[in-house]
Amino acid sequence: MTQKEAIKIIEILKNTYPDAKCSLDFTTPFEMLVAVILSAQCTDERVNKTTPSLFSKYSTPEDFVKMPLETLEELIHPCGFYKNKAKNIKATAEKVVKDFDGKVPETMEELLTLPGVGRKTANVVMLEAFNKPQGVAVDTHAKRLSNRIGFSNKDTPEKIEQDLLKLFPYEYLKDINHLLIYHGRAICTARSPKCENCPIREHCSFYLNKLT
Ligand code: SF4
Repeated sequence: MTQKEAIKIIEILKNTYPDAKCSLDFTTPFEMLVAVILSAQCTDERVNKTTPSLFSKYSTPEDFVKMPLETLEELIHPCGFYKNKAKNIKATAEKVVKDFDGKVPETMEELLTLPGVGRKTANVVMLEAFNKPQGVAVDTHAKRLSNRIGFSNKDTPEKIEQDLLKLFPYEYLKDINHLLIYHGRAICTARSPKCENCPIREHCSFYLNKLT
């Protein structure tokens, strides 16, 4: 796919979903970081139902360092994988306090040193908390749609992200993940993509291949 075609697709999606944005609720970079860690294998909706009671009592990295692990496990239980997530959140809070003066670091390299923070989480934090996109978060929707549309034929999030970075100019990075998530939820669902109703079907490899 050429850059021109890829941009055309993203422009159509921007018109289709003008309000596409991150759906996790947060008020500080550290809350954002916690919310993204909780969102692994869990819906944003469920995370947003869980975090108000958590963040009303515990919000700063210092709060999370002091709180007992069992209390954290109990509060985040609805998000699943709560033991692992609680362990990572506590360890991340400890490292932020110890190594970064209590502030979430603002570079990819430093974010990736935090326990439980991989490239996807770091990309989301750089974009949503600091408005400094460094790449594209490739989650399950971004992966599936990138493959179907033809942005990338790779099978790992890291390789797909590299293809997206080659395809799109910097100014598009902030929109790609949100638009693919919205389109993946509304039309290009995992089990039954509604290609007949899809505004980008004439540019989509999956659809064009079905016709031939
Ligand atoms: S045409 Fe079908 S496969 Fe392609 S993006 Fe649209 S819904 Fe998904």
